[in-house]
Amino acid sequence: MLNLFNKIHQLLSEISLCESCLGRQFAQLLTGTTNRKRGEALLISLGLELHFDIINLNKTLPDYESLLHLPFPIIKQSYEKIALVAEVQSLSDNPLENKPAKKLDILPESKICYICQGLFEKSRLNELADLVCSHAKHYEFFTFLVGSKIPSSMIEREENIRTKYNLTFGESIKSDLNREIGKLIYLQPAFNEKDLDFNIPDIVFIVNMVDNLIDIQNNPIFIYGKYNKLQRGIPQTVWYCNECWGKGCDKCDYSGRKHPDAVEEYILPEIIQACKAKEGKFHGSGREDVDALMLGEGRPFVAQIQEPKIRTLDLKQLEEEINNKSNERVKITLIEMTNREKVRNIKIKSPSMRKHYRMGVILPSPQKIDFSLLNKLVGSIKQQTPKRVLHRRADLTRTREVFKMTGNQVDDKRIEVEIICSGGLYVKELIHGDDGRTKPSLSQVLGDISLIVEYLDVLKVEDLKK
Ligand SMILES: [Zn+2]
Ligand SMILES: [Zn+2]
Repeated sequence: MLNLFNKIHQLLSEISLCESCLGRQFAQLLTGTTNRKRGEALLISLGLELHFDIINLNKTLPDYESLLHLPFPIIKQSYEKIALVAEVQSLSDNPLENKPAKKLDILPESKICYICQGLFEKSRLNELADLVCSHAKHYEFFTFLVGSKIPSSMIEREENIRTKYNLTFGESIKSDLNREIGKLIYLQPAFNEKDLDFNIPDIVFIVNMVDNLIDIQNNPIFIYGKYNKLQRGIPQTVWYCNECWGKGCDKCDYSGRKHPDAVEEYILPEIIQACKAKEGKFHGSGREDVDALMLGEGRPFVAQIQEPKIRTLDLKQLEEEINNKSNERVKITLIEMTNREKVRNIKIKSPSMRKHYRMGVILPSPQKIDFSLLNKLVGSIKQQTPKRVLHRRADLTRTREVFKMTGNQVDDKRIEVEIICSGGLYVKELIHGDDGRTKPSLSQVLGDISLIVEYLDVLKVEDLKK
């Protein structure tokens, strides 16, 4: 006990601290109270001790002059009285020595806190909480968190004091401020139905004391859906011109791109608008070739919308609007609101993924195909990285499975085949063989004839695990 008071005595005789900053140095002592209350309690205890000593020691002056700046007028008055008595005493003891009257040399009565310089004053905290609330009005959110940015000079002042006085029970000024402002705004009507969330809050209000403003970290929302591509020649995401990368040049007729539209362009802008957001990202579960259709139940995707001001969406209505505006090029279903983890999940190329394809194939000369030969392709396929993707993929040999393959004759120069295979098999190469890099191939089992893939449709993408 004595130790603690000695410490506080020494501390407060040299610097001025507000109750919060004083209490924060002992934040790890006791629970169920606040730093401000800790500080108030310490200050009052110290005041009681001072007053007690001054009364009891009476004529002998205790060495408390340096503490007279504390907010206890009675102590100052008592002290001055004793000082005066002592002065008179010494004069009458030795009348010839004309000593000047004793002046109290105390710290200025400025109550500005050395560490926070007023930041933790109740009025200032209320001001900041009000400021947070005035920002909060512009956003729809259900969970929130309060953060802060503290000037490094403030943190340094606190660290210096902790080192100098060996204070080892404190907490950071940052978590103190976050908690105090958090408590204040939690009581505001605007936050009635909102929950604190320390993991993934919808929104984080950052009390930025460096620039004196409130920073908003408005976390994205995620919408899970599936898309069908009903016409050929549409990439999944915007494909910029290889020459100018979007700037516009002769080669792309100054459009800056290689294809006029993209699947994501039918989906994202509508959702962004509904969320009153500015931008979004499209995450597809794999992608089909630009010239392939995506049929059946569709390909899973997640739309990630950055900084949404609206988080409650009518997915059915939004889906309808998107489908109405897509000129029959793309059709989507919006399934549910989801989270960031879903983006990872749909991106994982899991071995349990199965794909169903349909392909049109052109024969080198009119002939009747014996479709029983297709059974020779069922089983393991050894596939060396296709030549057409070698520029962006490592040259490796992978083994993939064909589970089922059927076909029918369209006319004497064309056939259509359907394949069920594991994810990651390059099916165009399964048809033409890629100069022997895919083995076996349809070209090979039909007697080394050269085949051309006329079209490719994805009929189904399924994850057997789900
Ligand atoms: Zn302070
Ligand atoms: Zn260009």
